Amino acid sequence: MIANFIFSLLLIAAAWLFTRNVKRISRNIRMGKKVSINDQKPKRWKLMARVAIGQSKMTTRPVSAIMHLFVYVGFIVINIEMIEILIDGVFGTHRILSFAGSAYPVLISLFEIFALLVIVACIVFLIRRNWIRLGRFWTREMTPWPRSDANIILVTEILLMSSILLMNASDGLLQDRGSLHYAVVGPFLISDLIKPLLAGLPDASLIVIERSTWWFHIIGVLVFLNYITYSKHFHILLSFPNVYYSKLGPLGKMDNMPSITQEVKLMLNPQITADHTANEEEMGQFGARDVNDLNWKLLMDAYTCTQCGRCTSSCPASMTGKKLSPRKIVMDVRFRAEELGRYLHRNGNGKGDGKSLFDRIEAEELWACTTCNACVEECPVNIDPLAVILELRRYLVMEKAAAPGELNATFSNMENNGAPWQFSNEDRMQWAGTN
Ligand code: SF4
Ligand code: SF4
Repeated sequence: MIANFIFSLLLIAAAWLFTRNVKRISRNIRMGKKVSINDQKPKRWKLMARVAIGQSKMTTRPVSAIMHLFVYVGFIVINIEMIEILIDGVFGTHRILSFAGSAYPVLISLFEIFALLVIVACIVFLIRRNWIRLGRFWTREMTPWPRSDANIILVTEILLMSSILLMNASDGLLQDRGSLHYAVVGPFLISDLIKPLLAGLPDASLIVIERSTWWFHIIGVLVFLNYITYSKHFHILLSFPNVYYSKLGPLGKMDNMPSITQEVKLMLNPQITADHTANEEEMGQFGARDVNDLNWKLLMDAYTCTQCGRCTSSCPASMTGKKLSPRKIVMDVRFRAEELGRYLHRNGNGKGDGKSLFDRIEAEELWACTTCNACVEECPVNIDPLAVILELRRYLVMEKAAAPGELNATFSNMENNGAPWQFSNEDRMQWAGTN
């Protein structure tokens, strides 16, 4: 009874904490500008089914795609066993789902196969990151925290899966010996292979192993559930809505700025001066200085980033040694959203903390972008780093007049000559007169 009570308390505490953490993230995402993305719903559902559920963009790298599939499917399948653990924990039963009869050992064996595959995949991932040291996991934005975060996730998953196998092995031995409370519900495919390692232990020790691995697993899952809200692993929840709300049109199409569109219309049709005067008063800042100048979808992008580095490893600027890394841009947005969100939460919705995204992102990074869209194309969860880069550039150009010299010359030429070149358009036909 005491164990059931403690279990229920832990469950309630973890659920409360998780709700609080999710509200924190939601509050931070809602700091972003409002934008309505609710069109073409059938197309969005299809996109989500293909890219988020079907993991279609992972296939470009088959080895990591297969390994990731093990972890992804394993995560979903093994969570079914969590239902049994939760019911057993609250009501003090033991293997409640065993009423399924002969289907039960088949189900548990299936969970065990996936648990083993998850362990194998996580070991391979650890080796790639820490021993082989794949370049994309060691770029400058992969500071000790993101690297540790990835390792913590992988080690935790190995421990959680191993505890299931050890729990089932000790449980299986107790079943074989006809111990009290351990009715025969096996055999289990993988954990039966571990049984010989434990066969020399007395019943009391097996019960200790079985109970402690059971508690270790459930407490580990509850702690992990809250940990992911601070980690890149939150993508396991956000990747679905993030893909749903992603850009549907051509990737190369840049969003117009309504106030600039209005200016152009005005130039073409001076009669709309009255409207213009009214709009001019409403005109806010151009581009983005900080995270709350970006729209909410771009902030959701930042919380969805898996830090896989596929964007950076396909970025021509990054590949040719420029300072730009699209992954860093997205990570900076998340870190800054956390920082500003924390500040505003503590100090009310005042003016902010005086910092901005430019404390993290240098102009050199922004101007290195060729706007090729490779990062957007490559991202497995449809994140758009380019949109952030463009908004920050717009701020630099239109609010700070801080474009690089070459661009300023181009802007002047367009203003004065109607073309990017330094020659007057009145002289355009002079070439015809030569010779
Ligand atoms: S759009 Fe910019 S950031 Fe993205 S891959 Fe191309 S150059 Fe790199
Ligand atoms: S933006 Fe996309 S591709 Fe780049 S690191 Fe994040 S998840 Fe990976």
